[in-house]
Amino acid sequence: MDGKRYLITPGPTPVPPEVVAAEAAPLHHHRSPDFRALLGETLAALRRLFATEHDVLLFTGSGTAAMESSVANLLSPGDRVVVASAGNFGERWLKLVRAYGIEPVHVAHEWGERLDPARIGAAAEEAETAAVFVTQSETSTGVVHDIEAIAKHTAPTGAVLVVDAVSSLGGVELATDAWGVDVVVAGSQKALMTPPGLAFASVSPRAWLRAERSTLPRYYLDWRLTADSQAKNDTAFTPAVTVVAALRKALELIESRGYETVWAHNRRLALGAREGVKALGLELYSPDDETSAMVTALLMPDGIDGQRCYGVLRDRHGIVLAGGQGSLRGRIMRIGHMGYMNEFDIVTALAGLELALAELGYRPPRPGAGAARAVEVFASG
Ligand code: PMP
Repeated sequence: MDGKRYLITPGPTPVPPEVVAAEAAPLHHHRSPDFRALLGETLAALRRLFATEHDVLLFTGSGTAAMESSVANLLSPGDRVVVASAGNFGERWLKLVRAYGIEPVHVAHEWGERLDPARIGAAAEEAETAAVFVTQSETSTGVVHDIEAIAKHTAPTGAVLVVDAVSSLGGVELATDAWGVDVVVAGSQKALMTPPGLAFASVSPRAWLRAERSTLPRYYLDWRLTADSQAKNDTAFTPAVTVVAALRKALELIESRGYETVWAHNRRLALGAREGVKALGLELYSPDDETSAMVTALLMPDGIDGQRCYGVLRDRHGIVLAGGQGSLRGRIMRIGHMGYMNEFDIVTALAGLELALAELGYRPPRPGAGAARAVEVFASG
């Protein structure tokens, strides 16, 4: 292997050269006017991206830090909380809530299913519910859940709706204010094509009301501390200054393309990936429709271990896809198509997959069938 690497995963995703250059610029001191200006511009761009007029809080940490912040800032011991899950990241909400001593009402779905908005609404309605925790893009299965529909069902209950959009914000639509979503959490390293290191949480006025009453312990992730600093274009602690610089550039690139254009681009790449997978004679695990715009998950052929396929792809061909998580480990592979990806990443993923599978004993219907089909899809518009 000649050392060339292709990162075609659901995160971290590749970083455009302009963003790398922004990160490599000389460091600002975080209490300097230069950094304050950088932070102010970045927060304003984040509010546009989140489609909210309210606070978007920025933390140095990975996406899970923003998830944890919403548990620690919204809840009090004894609160009734609903968690809906259909995969690994939905289950992360369960673990987080339990870590703070609260046993949630679990609206469990099979992995790979779509979250059922009516079931979630009914669970939130049953008794006074403080908060409902869901996922937009369930990265472990490739399903993008219908947050607009879930919000319609939870809004009348008065519960605060918290959405994990770590792998979808910027990649598919999430109209935070218009849909009535109270808290959206995200991270820098996926659709936002920035290195890992920053986490975000948008907070609606209704979520603030609850946060002011919440008594769970918090310090580093305290929303009030962060919001008060941000009101002065400042941060409570030393932030990942270089990642903020990278993020500002990435958000500028995304805005200059236009949000809708980026979403449409992702849907197009996803279509090429799905068609290519099927042309290889493989079965899709993620839904075969345009909602699966962030991750395409495919089932391994009988008798082939997905982890071996992942290893051959990475070690022999330099192509990093993602394997399966939890009970899907070894059974699926995942192609990420969010962030700084284009048609050739999809063609590379499909061609690499074919080579790796061939090594493990699987032959597609025709040589090059997956890559050829993807090219055909892309050529047709
Ligand atoms: N939620 C989702 C949907 C994710 O895809 C991820 C990252 N794979 C996370 C949460 C966790 O984010 P992080 O690894 O940045 O803490």
